[in-house]
Amino acid sequence: MDHVLHLRSLLSGRTFRPDEIDYVDPEFGPEGIVDVVYDYDLIGRRISRESLRRDENHSIWRYRPLLPIEPDSPLPPLQIGWTPLYETPGLAASLGLRHLWVKDDGRNPTASFKDRASAIAVVKAQERGAKIVTTASTGNAAAALSGICASVGQANVIFVPEKAPAAKVAQLLAYGSTVMLVRGTYDDAFELCLQAADAYGWYNRNTGFNPYMSEGKKTATLEICEQLNWHAPDAIFVSVGDGCIIGGLHKGLKDLLALGWIERMPRLIGVQAAGSNYLAEAWERGEDVFTKPPIPAETVADSISAGLPRDRLKAMAAVVETNGAYITVSDDEILAAIPLLARGSGVFAEPAGAAAYAGLIKAVAQGLVSADERIVVLNTGSGLKDVVGAMKGVELVKTQPYRVDPDLEDLRRVMATL
Ligand SMILES: *Cc1c(COP(=O)(O)O)cnc(C)c1O
Repeated sequence: MDHVLHLRSLLSGRTFRPDEIDYVDPEFGPEGIVDVVYDYDLIGRRISRESLRRDENHSIWRYRPLLPIEPDSPLPPLQIGWTPLYETPGLAASLGLRHLWVKDDGRNPTASFKDRASAIAVVKAQERGAKIVTTASTGNAAAALSGICASVGQANVIFVPEKAPAAKVAQLLAYGSTVMLVRGTYDDAFELCLQAADAYGWYNRNTGFNPYMSEGKKTATLEICEQLNWHAPDAIFVSVGDGCIIGGLHKGLKDLLALGWIERMPRLIGVQAAGSNYLAEAWERGEDVFTKPPIPAETVADSISAGLPRDRLKAMAAVVETNGAYITVSDDEILAAIPLLARGSGVFAEPAGAAAYAGLIKAVAQGLVSADERIVVLNTGSGLKDVVGAMKGVELVKTQPYRVDPDLEDLRRVMATL
């Protein structure tokens, strides 16, 4: 990894060689999050916008020289990333906007954005010869780790809150993970996983704690800018729980600016559920997220339920340094956004994915975006992850199916009422 200069502690600025620490700055324990610092001159000699144009690898690995992995590490076979960026003129017009795109990360192999990070975790674990990989998760990070481990035969132990949606638990069991349903919240599962990894010597993927997860997540902004022909958008809307995705998006954009591949920094707009609004509250009040205590978190969008966002330092910097904003949306706004997004774009999102679109609706209403801005909304997870949530959403926009007898007469009767 000669392209990685060092790992830099966000809290003390101290730097470490990548072989010196696996996860965090030891001075601060699990809170001592570090950032991967690259040699952009070297990277710029290995990859360019022109070399990418000729590259037929359509996955996150097309950006391999920008990723914190060894040059000869084997890569998992599943196709991760290079998800479609759809231009959605109908949806744009419905909001009075002119340029709107939806990037559909529900199209990843385990059906969420988390595949981008878990892929890096599996490569790092195998570089270290780890027998077992572990993570705590609200569901999707677990499903992603589980699926990618299955693709390479890597043993793993997963900790999820016992209330995780059935579809996500089903994925874990189908992929053959050892699954611990923790009687408690995601935050409880996170702590238990940290202790278990330490006690058993497992490789830990935990969000925030593992510095390489943001590096996997950054591939989404590398893709967005490349898909827009290196003409960066004005704003990107993304839902936020732990804050690793938004921090990763920011990192990808900083990489591109450092390489001189884009000209300016888009605004990052983080969307939180009203019932899990730690970062939005801290941003509005100007609070220090290192000292702000956890809040109780409760939302239908289980993937963004986080009482103490683990990657909050990077998540706050992402919004502050890009002149962005945090927005909150209610559970009903999130659920109603599922059918609204689906009808306007054909993209079916789980609640946490639709939350980003609910945030855009609110931003338009509040005059936070102007009509000619170029805007990207990120769908982070497939609607099939949470069918119960989708059904609540369609009820909120007052759509229901019709019941007919299996004969044309009865169909005529029903059609006449429409
Ligand atoms: C994890 C997740 C998020 C939020 O990502 P954070 O890094 O926790 O902020 C949003 N949407 C979906 C579907 C997710 O799985």
